[in-house]
Amino acid sequence: MSENNVRPPVVTILGHVDHGKTSLLDRIRHAEVAAGEIGGITQAIGAYQIEHQGKKITFIDTPGHAAFSAMRRRGGQAADVAILLVAADDSVMPQTQESIEHIKAAKIPFVVAVNKTDLPGANPERVKTDLASNGVYVEGYGGNIPIVNISAKTGAGIDELLEIILLLAELEELKDNSAATPATAVVIESALDSQKGPLATLLVQQGIFKKNDDLWNGHDLFGKIRSMVDFKGKSLSEAMPSTPFQVIGLAKVPNVGDILSSLSSAVGAIHESPESLSNPTDIEKPTIVLKADVQGSLEAILSTIKDQANIISSSVGMVSETDIQTAQAANAEILGFNIKIPASVAKLAEVEKIKFTNFRIIYQLFDYLKDLQEKKTVAAGPKIIESGQAKVLKVFNFAGTIVYGCVVLTGKIRLGDDVQGSKISSIKINKDNVEEAKKDQELGLVLSPAIELKPGDIITSTTIET
Ligand code: GDP
Repeated sequence: MSENNVRPPVVTILGHVDHGKTSLLDRIRHAEVAAGEIGGITQAIGAYQIEHQGKKITFIDTPGHAAFSAMRRRGGQAADVAILLVAADDSVMPQTQESIEHIKAAKIPFVVAVNKTDLPGANPERVKTDLASNGVYVEGYGGNIPIVNISAKTGAGIDELLEIILLLAELEELKDNSAATPATAVVIESALDSQKGPLATLLVQQGIFKKNDDLWNGHDLFGKIRSMVDFKGKSLSEAMPSTPFQVIGLAKVPNVGDILSSLSSAVGAIHESPESLSNPTDIEKPTIVLKADVQGSLEAILSTIKDQANIISSSVGMVSETDIQTAQAANAEILGFNIKIPASVAKLAEVEKIKFTNFRIIYQLFDYLKDLQEKKTVAAGPKIIESGQAKVLKVFNFAGTIVYGCVVLTGKIRLGDDVQGSKISSIKINKDNVEEAKKDQELGLVLSPAIELKPGDIITSTTIET
């Protein structure tokens, strides 16, 4: 967990074209990143993170704020704080008004940055009046929205702007949620790279992503984090909440706004607090009949799990024949807390194949329900099936194309299958292109994108069964 139990704010800049969004993003990035860093060269991955007065701030810099809109369409949120940028010589323009609408709909705090105040024609006072006639009342002008005069060109006012952002973030109390599972991230940019294959920039929402984690969009897209780099091109071993990183290893290009979760952190999470049950991903709800010893415990359990399960019936007392019939009709399981089941009813449950589990510790019931959700999700989603395994004997480089000389150990290695998130794009046996290689056959394999393999490595090829 990070210090002070807070996560860095994620900031987006909105404003009219030519009012200086790109200049401001560049100015902040260079001022804060270049300091003390050799070269200070950054790459555009759609977001970057700076440190100001020892505190981190993440800026989304995707053109057109595609992520912002995509997230909004899904009712989610990519940014915590917005900067409404208005040029002092131009004042409020049509896209400024649109930006105001966006920010208001997103219900996030914002600061007005009046840019280009270095220009002779700058008129910050007019900006205040124009904003007021658009329903934005800034400090000292009938409202409490912070406003700061800046120049992306000279750097004036930028420190103050960053301070205000940190202040707004502090008021938001952005809780560190790195312990939450599964780890989830929103796709803020994606592309197909001819060398590296599908690329995506992910912004961590909760939990921690680690190298080699399996990724899933909850539907039809799988991958493995084969490489994760930050906006400085530096390789990362893990990414905390609010951290943007570029991932290589997805089977195909995801959509901006997609939520990816880490499968490895979803599975194996057993000691979670009940709050973590309320995660935002589309997890299928198990259907249950709930029984408890007394009204108090029934209500406590209901209030915690009401969003996590389809509770078709809940009552106090021993399990009855009626409960068994209810469960059977709805294809449900019965969960009990500190209750008994009469022998005759237990027999009926057995005959009708209705599962009944009783708990004496409330957290164990929550944990059990969480496991149930995850199993259901995996069962309901597409399955990854192993096709075969092969051992790498030699690695060749033919004019830039990496060919792995392999021998099949088990099953089959087939064209189009996945190997650690890469696709098998060619299989050759004795110089002939083939569709598959069987046990004991030697083959030349090309993976797109190429991955790091050495002689002696065992690869497993997988296919997705939908
Ligand atoms: P965007 O379309 O909002 O991303 O705007 P840009 O950052 O591309 O800026 C548009 C133009 O305004 C460019 O020619 C910038 O050099 C110029 N510009 C941006 N900020 C300032 C500023 O603070 N002062 C002055 N004088 N020019 C600026």
